[in-house]
Amino acid sequence: MRLVLFDIDGTLVNSLGAGKAALEQAMLTVYGETGPIASFDFHGRTDPAIVRGLLRAVDWTDEEIEPGFEATWDSYLAALDRELAERDGQVRPLPGVGDLLEVIEGDERFAPGLVTGNMEGGAQRKLGAAGLDGRFGFGAYGSDSEWREDLPPLARERAQRRYGRLFNMETAVVVGDTPEDIRCARANGARALAVSTGRHSAEELREHGPDAVFENLSDTARVVRMLADE
Ligand SMILES: [Mg+2]
Repeated sequence: MRLVLFDIDGTLVNSLGAGKAALEQAMLTVYGETGPIASFDFHGRTDPAIVRGLLRAVDWTDEEIEPGFEATWDSYLAALDRELAERDGQVRPLPGVGDLLEVIEGDERFAPGLVTGNMEGGAQRKLGAAGLDGRFGFGAYGSDSEWREDLPPLARERAQRRYGRLFNMETAVVVGDTPEDIRCARANGARALAVSTGRHSAEELREHGPDAVFENLSDTARVVRMLADE
């Protein structure tokens, strides 16, 4: 059985800017400052790394950032609820995601889970808005570590508890839309499936040496063959 570790934003779901808008409100509430939020590259980073990166960019020190961290996430999740409600019915899974999940959930070769930079509560909310809640039995989140590379071992541990068996990282596949997802796979000895439904083109992603690049996840049979390493 293989771990299939899905990123969320740009891979499973496009939440139409809800996360960024919510983070902006939370940072204004807690820190009174958002740093260079309009130009900052959010893609592939964990939520805590985004907040830290934005504040460091305007010369905040970690000692100044740390005290507001907890309150930021409470405020963020409340704002995310509002932002997603405003986009009600428009947040959908990206092409092919629904069919692919249906196939791999019913295939005992695969254990589908999440490896995402979202806080766990943010992940649940974004997946819920796209009708994908309850589809992943385990995962690791930005709320577990600021560094994406730390997340696959945590996801594996949780999968092992859930399935009551061991999983191998060499047969695991990280599915994501950014160079950071590819690096995260490599850092953990996992395979990387890159999909260009986020900000990065297939060509850009190819430069980072993933095992496969797909324009989207809609060719279910081909994606499943890659995941199974056939
Ligand atoms: Mg992503």
